[in-house]
Amino acid sequence: MTFWSPAVPTSTPTSTWLDLPEDTGFGPDNLPYGVFTTSDRPEQRRIGVAIGDQVLDAGAAARATGVPSALLDAPSLNPLLAAGRETWTAVRAQLRSWLGDPAHRAAVEPCLLSRAEVRLHLPFTVGDYVDFYASEHHAANLGRLFRPGSDPLTPNWKHLPIGYHGRSGTVVVSGTPIVRPQGQRKAPTDAVPSFGPTQRLDIEAEVGFVVGAPSELGTPVPLADFREHVFGVCLVNDWSARDIQAWEYVPLGPFLGKSFATSVSPWVVPLDALEHARVSPPPRDVEPLPYLDDRAGEPWGLDLALEVRLNGEPISHPPFAAMYWTAAQQLAHMTANGASVRPGDLFASGTVSGPDHGTEGALIELTWNGARPVKLPDGSSRSFLDDGDEVTITATAPGPHGTRIAFGEVTGRVVAGG
Ligand code: CA
Repeated sequence: MTFWSPAVPTSTPTSTWLDLPEDTGFGPDNLPYGVFTTSDRPEQRRIGVAIGDQVLDAGAAARATGVPSALLDAPSLNPLLAAGRETWTAVRAQLRSWLGDPAHRAAVEPCLLSRAEVRLHLPFTVGDYVDFYASEHHAANLGRLFRPGSDPLTPNWKHLPIGYHGRSGTVVVSGTPIVRPQGQRKAPTDAVPSFGPTQRLDIEAEVGFVVGAPSELGTPVPLADFREHVFGVCLVNDWSARDIQAWEYVPLGPFLGKSFATSVSPWVVPLDALEHARVSPPPRDVEPLPYLDDRAGEPWGLDLALEVRLNGEPISHPPFAAMYWTAAQQLAHMTANGASVRPGDLFASGTVSGPDHGTEGALIELTWNGARPVKLPDGSSRSFLDDGDEVTITATAPGPHGTRIAFGEVTGRVVAGG
């Protein structure tokens, strides 16, 4: 893999007066944002910043240090998202100063809470939600499974990042139970469809990009402006009912097989924390049209290492660096027709699948449609998810000087439908 050298100083890890666990992925070079409540004030949502095993009450820290901030003293990240790149950089510098400069310790330390004692919520109001399909390995695997005998990739696949509009109102925070959806299913051998609970409930391990600054209606966002509009990155599980999906998706694409729930991780890692994770994406073996051509500019491949666990057992390690289309290309394509983006818009990468067995981001690929079930330590096996199953996706990325940037986790347990 070719590593692209970022045009940023190779800084040493940022110092802090906190005594952090040595291997924490939540060091001062990460500082992801979330929204939390505490049991004594369950109605009051507050912006928090993860540091070590703790969370900084950001609004309280702003007041305690004498710089009250309406952007940090808010029940959601949306005002901060809307504020734009210059403000994001200034706020991040402020957070680093609070947590790094011993002069702030007396004021800031009382604003730290144990992360284990707070409840995390959806950190922003999701505007539009778009889901892409950017892994060549995933697209080819699904092509082989859904359209045997034809080309695994559709003719458009290497010319544009394929995507569809999802349902933003059913984006839920990690930990929200996933009710097994019902719908129409029709196996090829069935004469007519039937209605009932999905028998092929699956996951899709994905990476989500959170839009901050809006764009103008009628004005596309070029590749070079990606950083001006995208605030940060989270993890996504695009739960998928394969039997419902297979029957409904022709000709307009995913609908009820996907829209019942999409889980996101509670921490949004700032794009600024991922400079050391940037890599060149795979070679473009079809020349991209100019608005998608990232070969001469700053590429936005990201070397995130994902892990998927089923009931605690690691079952896959998808590599995000293998994704063919980058988030910058997806944003450029999503706005190429003049469609605008708004603060809180979320676009997901598509299932992250690598080239090898054990790196697939969905059970349908990992088990090859049930032909090679996943074996669990309790002796049971899975082709798709059972009621009671819990799926957790985690990820880390390289930080400065050998540190790791953690994304936390997105988790969800399947419960039987009513
Ligand atoms: Ca998906």
